[in-house]
Amino acid sequence: MICTTVRNGNECVFMAANGCSYNGGSCHPVIEKCDGCKRTSEFESGVFCVPCPEPSAKWKNGNCNLATHVSTVAASKKQKINPIKASKRGH
Ligand code: SF4
Repeated sequence: MICTTVRNGNECVFMAANGCSYNGGSCHPVIEKCDGCKRTSEFESGVFCVPCPEPSAKWKNGNCNLATHVSTVAASKKQKINPIKASKRGH
């Protein structure tokens, strides 16, 4: 249904005949961590995330999985090799 609240005019799954059914009755604005993400969109009522109604929830357990401005590839941990131990292991 078409949103008539904060994202007025946008199609939204949470919109119902009796108003927004999302927690709190409307979308929550983007948070600081969303700065630079291409999924943000500016509306008269503020800046909101297009795919997610509550950006802070997306960042609760680490990086947002939909963010376009952060790499989701975890940095591979390089194991340090102790050269002395390595030489002992070799013999
Ligand atoms: S996709 Fe994630 S990082 Fe981007 S605006 Fe939405 S919540 Fe923020």
